[in-house]
Amino acid sequence: MDFCAKCGSILVPKEGKKLGCVRCNYSIKAKETVKLKETVEKAKKIEIIDENPMKAYPKTKEECPKCENREAYFWTVQTRAGDEAETRFFECTKCHHRWRDYS
Ligand SMILES: [Zn+2]
Ligand SMILES: [Zn+2]
Repeated sequence: MDFCAKCGSILVPKEGKKLGCVRCNYSIKAKETVKLKETVEKAKKIEIIDENPMKAYPKTKEECPKCENREAYFWTVQTRAGDEAETRFFECTKCHHRWRDYS
């Protein structure tokens, strides 16, 4: 986590690969794009975890993008109002990496 050099508040990712202070308008160029990516990954994970408790999920033949294991748990989540298609989520049975199916 990065902090503002002016007021010490938290810096959050802003447009154009910048980090900006939440309180004043101080901003810096993000040094590591990796860090930004991590934040996004984490946000995604939390969003997914909230939906369902593990365990009862059925397994399916789906290749893990991380470890190439060919079996994953899956479940679906209705994202918004009922007219939207369900989003499918997968969790690798081996490394527990989670991802969603955009197709
Ligand atoms: Zn600040
Ligand atoms: Zn895996």
